[in-house]
Amino acid sequence: MKKQYDIAIIGAGVVGALIARRLSFYDVSICLLERHIDAAMGASGANSGIVHAGYDAEPGSLKARFNILGTGMMPGLCRQMGVPYKNTGSLVVAFDEDDEARIDDLYKNGIAENIEGLEIISGEKAREMEPALNPGITKALFASTAGVVSPYKLNIAAVENAVANGVDFIRETNVEGINGARGGFIIQTSRGNINAGTIINCAGIYADDIAAMAGDGFFHLTPRKGEYLLMDRSEGGLVERVIFQPPSDKGKGVLVMTTVDGNLLIGPDANVADSKEDIETHADSLDYVYRTALRSCGGLKLGKVITSFAGLRATPDTGDFIIGESIKVPGFFNAAGIESPGLSSAPAIAEHMAGLISESLGGLVEKKEYSKGKGNHDFFRDMTLEEKEKAIRENPDYGQVVCRCENVTKAEIIESIKGPAGARTVDGVKRRTRAGMGRCQGGFCLPAVIDILAGELGISKEDVMKGDPGSYIFAGRTRE
Ligand SMILES: Cc1cc2nc3c(=O)[nH]c(=O)nc-3n(C[C@H](O)[C@H](O)[C@H](O)COP(=O)(O)OP(=O)(O)OC[C@H]3O[C@@H](n4cnc5c(N)ncnc54)[C@H](O)[C@@H]3O)c2cc1C
Repeated sequence: MKKQYDIAIIGAGVVGALIARRLSFYDVSICLLERHIDAAMGASGANSGIVHAGYDAEPGSLKARFNILGTGMMPGLCRQMGVPYKNTGSLVVAFDEDDEARIDDLYKNGIAENIEGLEIISGEKAREMEPALNPGITKALFASTAGVVSPYKLNIAAVENAVANGVDFIRETNVEGINGARGGFIIQTSRGNINAGTIINCAGIYADDIAAMAGDGFFHLTPRKGEYLLMDRSEGGLVERVIFQPPSDKGKGVLVMTTVDGNLLIGPDANVADSKEDIETHADSLDYVYRTALRSCGGLKLGKVITSFAGLRATPDTGDFIIGESIKVPGFFNAAGIESPGLSSAPAIAEHMAGLISESLGGLVEKKEYSKGKGNHDFFRDMTLEEKEKAIRENPDYGQVVCRCENVTKAEIIESIKGPAGARTVDGVKRRTRAGMGRCQGGFCLPAVIDILAGELGISKEDVMKGDPGSYIFAGRTRE
């Protein structure tokens, strides 16, 4: 492991990864430090995947500014990096006069921020657009610019792009202390010290602890958990647009949507979590999510749920995103308190942070050659018959479908493991290829994925992990 960098970015969530990618266009040495075994294992791997239109946030706030800018950048960015994105539009539905007043306020927020494509429509019009909506819906706020994206694929593609441009992705490395000052920070990690001239804190729910380590712990983050139910792809398409209920002081409320990969997703709720590691789901929360979602669409079938998951929002006590250089510790930058709409905002936060860093370092020189992403990703399941035949002729591993639910081939799984930003675990393969994300949740393909991982990583099957070290899949052999 190299020990000296111009810039150290702490946290390989979507914010840290996109900042690393953007800075990798310049002639500076950068490391991206991540405590987990892979990217996208924090909030960026467990959220709704909505690219919000931007009317929710307080006009004039950083949340509103970066959301609107980021949402505008998202389609082009996803095209550059070959990440699935769809401009679906969204509806906030009202059930009574109180709700109607709330969607009027959202509309006014949006108009104050010059958001295009907003319209208050009648309940009948909403049902014409989305026939699955309940008859009790009286009005709706339609936003044409909203969309859906694969959050973990965006996160991982950004890391891959940054690494392709020379960034060192240093995983399984927990930042435990920060000493020194601008130009000469010493970062104490679980794998030894790393020196860096500039630090960018993108540590998600732990960003307050990292800021305190640097000597400027002026904010506090509360983990607020959101739980979800994910349904089979047979249910995807029940709604085309993202269906929100009016937001409350707890957040944007329970939504019903079809993910960019075609599953139906309902959730999340919002409750203060027991700890920063608490991502368990609970029957009572999931019951609340299901009952609340039924208010929007009566046709939701509980029997079609294939899994549940939870993510933690990093809610700051400042009320807004915390973005910029620390006043007390020059050279230490925060991209902290990035709760929702942080995914939507991340492209614009990255652009802004690159500007701040360039200014702080007296200007950055663009590299002569760099990549902005690998463009369209050719998933086997999306290929035409002719393309599939050609792919199999060129590489017979395309002829071996490993995950039948999601139609993922051996060739794609091998490809996902390659390189310094590749998958190291079963979950890593899953997030890159979707193998194990289908109806059987890996019941069929898990042994084959383990075989491929063991072969490609040169380890024994017993050493293949589900996620972080210690998450063994096999306890040992029953018979030698
Ligand atoms: C339930 C829920 C729903 C959401 N829905 C949406 C949505 O639909 N649209 C939207 O725009 N936003 C949404 N968000 C918000 C969005 O998910 C976040 O804003 C975004 O993912 C934050 O990214 P991040 O990189 O800041 O944090 P994270 O993804 O949490 O990444 C931080 C990284 O830092 C690492 N780290 C922490 N401490 C250390 C350390 N000491 N050393 C090394 N590494 C460390 C972590 O392991 C982690 O990988 C939602 C969030 C939640 C929880």
